Amino acid sequence: MRYPGQGVTRLMRVMQTNACSLSCGYCPTFCGGKVQRTYLQPEEVARVFMGAHRSGLADGLFLTSGVPGRPSKMTDRMLAAVDLLRRREGFRGYVHLKLLPGAEPAQVETAVRLASRVSINLEAPGDAYVRSLAREKDFAGDLLPKLELAGRLVLERSRLGAPAGLPTVGPTTQFVVGAAGEQDREILGLVARLERHGLLHHAHFSAFQPVVGTPLEGRRATPAAREARLYQAEHLLRQYGFEYDELIFGADGNLTLHDDPKTAWALAHPERFPIEVSRASYEALVRVPGIGPATARALVAARRRSVIRWSGDLRAAGVDVARAAWFLMLRGRRLARAPRPRQLRLFPPGEHLTQAPFRTPVPPCAYR
Ligand code: SF4
Repeated sequence: MRYPGQGVTRLMRVMQTNACSLSCGYCPTFCGGKVQRTYLQPEEVARVFMGAHRSGLADGLFLTSGVPGRPSKMTDRMLAAVDLLRRREGFRGYVHLKLLPGAEPAQVETAVRLASRVSINLEAPGDAYVRSLAREKDFAGDLLPKLELAGRLVLERSRLGAPAGLPTVGPTTQFVVGAAGEQDREILGLVARLERHGLLHHAHFSAFQPVVGTPLEGRRATPAAREARLYQAEHLLRQYGFEYDELIFGADGNLTLHDDPKTAWALAHPERFPIEVSRASYEALVRVPGIGPATARALVAARRRSVIRWSGDLRAAGVDVARAAWFLMLRGRRLARAPRPRQLRLFPPGEHLTQAPFRTPVPPCAYR
């Protein structure tokens, strides 16, 4: 993973226990799952991680867990592991702590103080959806307020200044997409609100895949393309200056799978195009399909040095000319007569749409 200002970090992922009392319908280690259970003491987590770190195998730790019994008890054990790393081992590198549903507010505070990043998985954008995935999870009374609390604490810590060598970055969350019947419009509305208020750094999306032996094994898998479109739309909100209201949703409340969200927006706004490359602002350039933030900056910088004359100059700056051509003008001439036909498929037809539940020995929550 990439840690702000510190390049790429190799993370060691540890699930402190896979014992769990919760009934998340997508997870093989849910309370009724027929898997062997195991548990690591805080001391073991600290020792194993520091061994890997000293051997040069891991730069940072991602710590997650199942929830056996009282969530606060297991959260204390996770915090104890991180505390050992920080205080006894003097480890000041990256630690991502995934807070458990049901963690106490004081534990959220301790986690923000000890970890480099905390995350709380919302799973879905509302109470009814979350309850249909896991009856014990409480969206409005627990998950959302705890994520918002973590976001406020990180903002406060950034204002006051974290201790040297222990920077804290904003919290993250994850959604299981498509298992509960929620719409992309609802997921992105929630993400946009949290990000706008600085309470969320970014969101992860995981297309639902039914797992053999779980309560949701009979439900239909979510196309991987839907997950990809959600990531693209979230990037538009966070890095491209788009507002939530500008995203284009279909009648079903979801992003289209045929076009990426920026292309869908651009095709819905022909009055905004073509734009003249030699005069357009950074903000206008970055809205052109095939031009990202780095390329828009490169174009603005290239214009200061020389005249952009032809599509080869655009390519040299990083523009995906095939996608961008219809939206651009160079010295008064539009670069294509028609928009490029539908984007190439992200995935071969039918791929990731399998109806057969898959088998996995590792719970999805181990990876998020
Ligand atoms: S996702 Fe996590 S909390 Fe839910 S059943 Fe699996 S291990 Fe337990």
